[in-house]
Amino acid sequence: MTRPRPVIAIDGPAGVGKSTTSRELARRLGYTLVDTGALYRGVALAARDRGISWDEEAAVVALCPQIELGFVSQDDGTPRLLLDGRDRGDDIRTPEMSSGASKVSAYPGVRRALLGIQRQLGREGGVVLEGRDIGTVVFPDALLKVYLTASVEVRAKRRAKEMTDLDYDEVAADIARRDAADAGRDDSPLATAGDAVTVDTSEMGIDEAVDALVAMVEKRSATADATETSDGH
Ligand code: C5P
Repeated sequence: MTRPRPVIAIDGPAGVGKSTTSRELARRLGYTLVDTGALYRGVALAARDRGISWDEEAAVVALCPQIELGFVSQDDGTPRLLLDGRDRGDDIRTPEMSSGASKVSAYPGVRRALLGIQRQLGREGGVVLEGRDIGTVVFPDALLKVYLTASVEVRAKRRAKEMTDLDYDEVAADIARRDAADAGRDDSPLATAGDAVTVDTSEMGIDEAVDALVAMVEKRSATADATETSDGH
């Protein structure tokens, strides 16, 4: 029997370079990329579309089973969010939706609803999932769990550069606020899985980080193969 293709979990705070690193890693491995933050952004957007306030927990949770979330891959492998069959990839990438996603992601009912979708998207393996709780909650058996980190200053500088219309101080304050909300919530907080490899990207370029991750995946896959062979499977 062939072993299922691996799942790779990439977690870390806002602006740490998760998206770019995960996209490049998935491309190098020939895996699919799943951007789980986009799902939380999708719930926030769906609520706004229907005039539901992000503060109304019960209404936001009740909305989840009524919407359809999925992805379509761009040519470069970037996943774009489909909400009820429509490409809303641009609509979710605003500071307003960052803040909405941060709010709705704290509701246990929302997290429960999105857990099933995330596991479904990764069930066949050969997938890189990026988020906040992939290694701790969504795929605790992932072949490789990575926790990316970098100082708030470095992350805010990167984000401000990426979105040229944003001011550094505003971005830094927003990142610090979202970090605190993600790390402080009761349900599935942002945390390092005990068996995750922490990679500090403050002084590292994307290529260097991706090279290191590809090497880790190859090493673990080889070890898993060797274990299976010696087990006689
Ligand atoms: O990664 P991104 O910034 O798009 O995520 C948006 C928000 O969704 C985060 O600030 C976080 O609050 C939430 N999120 C989460 N769990 C995940 C992914 C994202 O709570 N696995």
